[in-house]
Amino acid sequence: MKALVYHGKEDLRLEERPIPSVGPGEVLLRVLRAGICGTDLRILHGAHRHYPSGVVRIPGHEVVGEIVTLGEGVSGWQVGQRVFVAPNTGCGHCRQCVSGNNNRCPDFCALGITIDGAFAEYVCIPAAALRQGNLIPLDKTVDPAAAVLIEPLACVLRGQDAVAVSAGDVVLIMGAGPIGILHTMLARVRGAARVIVSEVWGARLTLAAAVGADRTVDVNVEDLQQVVLSESDGAGADVVIVAAPVATAQQSALELAALGGRVNFFGGLPKDQSIVPIDTNLIHYKELLVTGTTACNTYDCWRAATLVRAGRIDLTCLVSGIYPLERFAEAFAAAQQRSALKIVFDPTQMQ
Ligand SMILES: [Zn+2]
Ligand SMILES: [Zn+2]
Repeated sequence: MKALVYHGKEDLRLEERPIPSVGPGEVLLRVLRAGICGTDLRILHGAHRHYPSGVVRIPGHEVVGEIVTLGEGVSGWQVGQRVFVAPNTGCGHCRQCVSGNNNRCPDFCALGITIDGAFAEYVCIPAAALRQGNLIPLDKTVDPAAAVLIEPLACVLRGQDAVAVSAGDVVLIMGAGPIGILHTMLARVRGAARVIVSEVWGARLTLAAAVGADRTVDVNVEDLQQVVLSESDGAGADVVIVAAPVATAQQSALELAALGGRVNFFGGLPKDQSIVPIDTNLIHYKELLVTGTTACNTYDCWRAATLVRAGRIDLTCLVSGIYPLERFAEAFAAAQQRSALKIVFDPTQMQ
């Protein structure tokens, strides 16, 4: 099979690899689509902690595939069935796993992160992933390129659960990249009364408006605080989600939140820039809830897949390019562009 293999910093190679052999309890998927995400860019640049130098591995953790082989003892699945794969498997027995938070398991295993992933024609799904419910059935009516976004949608769902985005809320989303767009769509589904989206890169706001933002704010042109106050009868935002890796956005989130507001620092900051002075009196006197969320658990993926299958959220508008594996250099270059949303590989397509 063809596979995109990481050999070191900035060194991805398209290689011929044997199709993985399928052990007991495992299944083999033919990869239909695999998304490139920020994590993959970090891997490519040699900045991912699970890809230290010397590691040779196939990345790709956002995967939609079709079952081609069932390992010994696998039941409840059929050859030909289309599935989405929740990427993370926990150890299954630590405190975090038992509480349902396998994304926090210190001993996690993940496709494309700790083991070979889906930037290939085939990927083998480990037995533990099957046992833990990581395989999620998809209808053939769901666009497979869009369905790779179930994973980021699951992260966004977890993020909005943490700040309880509810009917009637004024929600401010800072950042209109793919994650900000997903937050916008989900906040609408959850019944937010007003969704305000701010961005430094004005061009990104067109899509935010198209997917349902009530008010978009190019912060180079308008004063965000004034807009938030006028959109909330002077109260501030009930919920602020910082969906951009920007320290000043985190600082102003506390100012823009209403009394009793809820704030999620959804995007992490660059490693050496994460110490940020904040006015803790804003948290104290306004009784703010300030939290953060990271990644998603398998149940978040199940619920995200349900939303997509039900047609409540259409992820198709986020796919900005589909590439065969052969054109990986172009695909990664496109994924680096600020204008790109989700770039997806189609390994069934041969150049
Ligand atoms: Zn991802
Ligand atoms: Zn665990």
